[in-house]
Amino acid sequence: MNTKDIIEQTVAMTMKTYAPQPVVLERGEGSYAYDAEGRKYLDFAIGIAVASLGHAHPKMLKVINEQAGKLMACQASYMTEAKLEAAKLLIDNSCFDEVFFTNSGTESVEGALKLAKKWAYDTKGAEANEIIAFRNSFHGRSLGAASITEKRLSQPYYEPYIQGVHFAGFNNLDSVKALVSDKTAIIIVEPVQGEGGLNPAEESFLQGLRDICDAHKIALIFDEVQCGSGRLGALYAYQYFGVEPDIACLAKGMGGGFPVGAFVAKKEFAQVFVPGTHGTTYGGNPLSCAVAACVLGEIASEGFLTHAQKMSALFKAELEALKSRSNKIHRIVGAGLMLGIETEVPIKQMIESLRQNGLMTTQSGADLLRLTPPLNVSEAEIREAVAIIEQTLQKEL
Ligand code: PLP
Repeated sequence: MNTKDIIEQTVAMTMKTYAPQPVVLERGEGSYAYDAEGRKYLDFAIGIAVASLGHAHPKMLKVINEQAGKLMACQASYMTEAKLEAAKLLIDNSCFDEVFFTNSGTESVEGALKLAKKWAYDTKGAEANEIIAFRNSFHGRSLGAASITEKRLSQPYYEPYIQGVHFAGFNNLDSVKALVSDKTAIIIVEPVQGEGGLNPAEESFLQGLRDICDAHKIALIFDEVQCGSGRLGALYAYQYFGVEPDIACLAKGMGGGFPVGAFVAKKEFAQVFVPGTHGTTYGGNPLSCAVAACVLGEIASEGFLTHAQKMSALFKAELEALKSRSNKIHRIVGAGLMLGIETEVPIKQMIESLRQNGLMTTQSGADLLRLTPPLNVSEAEIREAVAIIEQTLQKEL
């Protein structure tokens, strides 16, 4: 079947929540993806910061084949070696004591909210049920996650959302202090806002949130779904900033392309979950845990994160150099291997032209080109991406 037919027939049969892309992706290898017509793309989209080890990583393929041939499914109440391996990597390399495995970022956020709500209920009482989230936030699309995502303000058709959610200004501690009361149970923040414009938190802001939460007995949740799992050059985003939350949400990069997520918590919080308080059918299944253990093991292995840090520094330096050469770049934002540029070219046109020139990217916020290469990207691939961006800017303007 040709590209046009695949797109038209799929679009006809699937709900229209996305503007369809004009190419059909068929396979990938390392930092490159190939479409159904054999065109090759340097993939700096990777499913929006998902394929952290690149496409078709040999170790992942081996683990998937082996585990799929052994055991894919069992009830969540069964312990498996795969679950233990994945849990060990998340716990032994962090300040957290326990993990709950999920299938997606949204479910990690949802579960983390439930954990923190129960903690507040148990320790402060039923009245303490309010949540402070942030402007430009994105936490997912279930009704709970959507309730703490600022976009809800433009989606009145999903009302009523969770009650008692307040939005404070990102990097604005005074606006948080103004909202805190005896009713506040949770503060949830993305250490680097992913969908809302690649805004890194200031370290003093996160520390300020930590201090507020300590003083008022509020649960501090970091949503690291996009910025965690190595993307900032640290296994966890909190380690990059040096401020510990009580609970963290993970997904995307921890599965390297396989749908798996988790939320992790310190003992004081984790212990409020007892049998019957939360659960899942697929979360923690042997296959997803085996993949997560493989990906996290690779990210935590010697030299891997140092490489990601070096590639981030190189990418930033190359983009800054391009900015000073071309005058067509307004600003460069982001952190780690989660960078964004705003250019003279309208964002949709820029993404399309880049793809035609062989570079796949995504959009963040209203006008940012988001660049999220695999964490094991090479120096040559970074330079290739910057060269494509430069040629595209020259051609488009
Ligand atoms: N939280 C953050 C910070 C995200 O960036 C995303 C997805 O982009 C989510 C939560 C939701 O994750 P998922 O799409 O896997 O449900």
